[in-house]
Amino acid sequence: MTSETPSNAVYLGIDLSSRHIRSGIIDAAGNLSNFRREPHHFYRSNIDGRALADRLLTIAKQTVAELDAPLGGIGIGFPGLVNHTTQRVVRMPNTPSLAEIDLHQEFVEAFNVPVVFENNTNAATVAEMKFGGAQNVGDFLYVRIGHGVGAGLVLDGRLRRGKSGYAGEIGHMNVDPEGLECSCGSRGCLETICSAHNIVRRTHARLERDKTSVLSEFEKHDKDFTYDDIIEAAHNGDDLALLMMNRTGHFIGMVVADMINMLNLSMVVVAGNTAARSLLLPAIADEAKRRSFAEAYSDCEFIAAQLASEAGVIGAGILAQQAAR
Ligand SMILES: [Zn+2]
Repeated sequence: MTSETPSNAVYLGIDLSSRHIRSGIIDAAGNLSNFRREPHHFYRSNIDGRALADRLLTIAKQTVAELDAPLGGIGIGFPGLVNHTTQRVVRMPNTPSLAEIDLHQEFVEAFNVPVVFENNTNAATVAEMKFGGAQNVGDFLYVRIGHGVGAGLVLDGRLRRGKSGYAGEIGHMNVDPEGLECSCGSRGCLETICSAHNIVRRTHARLERDKTSVLSEFEKHDKDFTYDDIIEAAHNGDDLALLMMNRTGHFIGMVVADMINMLNLSMVVVAGNTAARSLLLPAIADEAKRRSFAEAYSDCEFIAAQLASEAGVIGAGILAQQAAR
């Protein structure tokens, strides 16, 4: 804590994800309050970076105005590449113009407290390490499956960011050389198969051959189904939905096996949609077992993340608190 940071200071955490902006206040003990979730659709349309920046500044100002304790710092998690040294968001899907704005500087000027920008999956990883299922675990991989597939890597008890902060992009590991083009410019990345959108796409393709699934009812009534509908159908025992979740887990498990062989991990944490975790976890572990050294696999425990969708906000708050020390 800096000499100016009072002991009762609280920290603002913001988590920008594909569909929502979540925000909240963390106190020194990690308690979350003032939690707020606003819808947001930057994956669907090309949002102006300036508009997004202004929205984040507004949310922060509104939350801070409600505080009855001093603000000690601000942390924000972004779904893209954040340069850890310059604190610039350098690449974000569908909001490329955000990279032209020094939003970090604007936050520092507006609030006059330490401000930390981080990849949002890294922020969630920090929360799981501090308050979730990976407490006191030295070497683990946190994998989050949702609108993208992201990961946070902790080795020797420290979040590993690589040279500039771009490490952990597990969703862009290559699993199919002939696969679909990916938003990153490559082809056949894990995300082109296992992101929520692509799970829906693959399920549609499969439904053309298999009309027995409850999901074919959506098509009959000319309605779209979502990733959440597939998860619900799988929980209700629908064979096709179960198959799709299982196959998705197997693709992720292939990549996780590589990580286990490479890093001799002691834990893999599966995060993302809370209802999907119990479906994906066994499939990921099965495939990882098939494809990694038995000795390395037996060192590795597989768990579902204990924190839910508030993890990114809590992690951003923790990072802000660490920056204020
Ligand atoms: Zn990619």
